[in-house]
Amino acid sequence: MVDWLALVPEDVRGVATRLAEGGFRSWIVGGCVRDVLLGRPVGDWDLATSALPDDVLKLFRKAIPTGIEHGTITVVTRDRHVEVTTLRGESTYTDGRHPDAVNFVDDIVADLARRDFTINAIAVDMASGLLVDPFEGQRDIAVRTLRAVGRADERFAEDGLRCLRAARFVATLECTLDPATESGIHGAMGTYAKVSAERVRDEWVKTMKARAPSRAFEIMRTSGMLNVTCAELLPSFGCAQNRHHAYDVWGHAMACMDAAPKDVMLRVAALLHDVGKPRSRAFSDKTNDYTFYDHERIGAEIADPILRRLRFSNDDRTRIVSLVRHHLVCWDPSWSDAAVRRWIKRVGPERLEDLYALCTADADGKGFDPRPEHERIEGLRAHVAKVMAESHAFSTKDLAIDGSALMDTFKRGPGPWLGKVLEALLETVLDDPSRNESSRLLDDARAIVAALPPHEERPRRPGKDTSHER
Ligand code: ATP
Ligand code: MG
Repeated sequence: MVDWLALVPEDVRGVATRLAEGGFRSWIVGGCVRDVLLGRPVGDWDLATSALPDDVLKLFRKAIPTGIEHGTITVVTRDRHVEVTTLRGESTYTDGRHPDAVNFVDDIVADLARRDFTINAIAVDMASGLLVDPFEGQRDIAVRTLRAVGRADERFAEDGLRCLRAARFVATLECTLDPATESGIHGAMGTYAKVSAERVRDEWVKTMKARAPSRAFEIMRTSGMLNVTCAELLPSFGCAQNRHHAYDVWGHAMACMDAAPKDVMLRVAALLHDVGKPRSRAFSDKTNDYTFYDHERIGAEIADPILRRLRFSNDDRTRIVSLVRHHLVCWDPSWSDAAVRRWIKRVGPERLEDLYALCTADADGKGFDPRPEHERIEGLRAHVAKVMAESHAFSTKDLAIDGSALMDTFKRGPGPWLGKVLEALLETVLDDPSRNESSRLLDDARAIVAALPPHEERPRRPGKDTSHER
């Protein structure tokens, strides 16, 4: 038996005591009760109360009306923010996402009845420490089953986000879907389509923290959610690969995502890394097997609009697309130092650790012994470390001279010639890092400028419009 009152943090108990002093009841409810019963770390301690939002605001000095329209006040304690929500009952839903009206009640059972899953619909009375579990959530926790409260078809038709929450909970809580709940999700795709892209992204992000996010993505695929949200992934299913792979493209993406470290964006990259394969697959008579030429470039082209649509930040999108673009690493021990330096320039020094992690997961997800591939990645890592110890110049910004030095030396104004000369200088430095020294670079620049096409050589006349040259 859990001694709930001893288990609830002191400051949260303090909120309940203050409510009781005002003559109101309160219960801890939802995710915190579920997580304690599952033996998982608790995220937020949420309280349900018989007090109305205005009463809550009056009782606490530090109270923020964060969601007052749904009855939620955030009480700031010494240690945390506690969401205190007035008991709410059933309502109608016409937009497929939000209740039409907020209906405050004084009955905890009615409040639990409007919650999504039985395991999320358990409360603990903060006066007595007794559990309120009218939908047998404890039984479902014991058998690790995710079951909708009440009639599944109705619950998912009310709010399409619950479909995705179900998929996420199956992965993060490692439970299975009750069959009626599963078919309720399948029937609610019209409502699911109304969920905003931001909410979908937030659920994907939370899903990626599971041990095996593939469990959620399988539900998304079979239920039709992916069809709505990311149809680009569907051709991977059933797309057989070649002798290097035991799984089809979909199965490999799932295995790779599960094998990747629990870094959300790295896992999204793993999910998408081979999304270009179905489009690039061709049969080679020479090898009597499939080839996937250029799939990483095609994949990057497909991944970018997916991530824009799902409102990933620009930084996250750039990182993921770059990982998809460069995940095919062809390094072998015969590569020269200059070839390794050119590769670092192409992928960017800041992406190296990500790429090692993705390539390792890629190898782990093939269904064959990954050790030879792991060794190759370690070989690349060592080669990269060696060349990086010798040179830090992998972009024109790292050169020992800059554009203004070139303009001074050649007595020319800014223009496209500068970029061309700096790029050409970087090429010489990638070949031979010892050339990254200002006098040597200026020598090299003289030869490069002399070889520029004649129109590049024309000095700029003041006032002349040269925008067409860019
Ligand atoms: P986590 O915090 O790990 O995402 P959680 O279950 O605490 O999980 P919250 O979004 O914090 O999820 O919601 C708190 C509680 O509110 C849930 O446990 C559930 O009882 C209820 N709830 C949340 N979203 C919905 C919804 N879309 N439909 C019905 N009930 C919901
Ligand atoms: Mg929560």
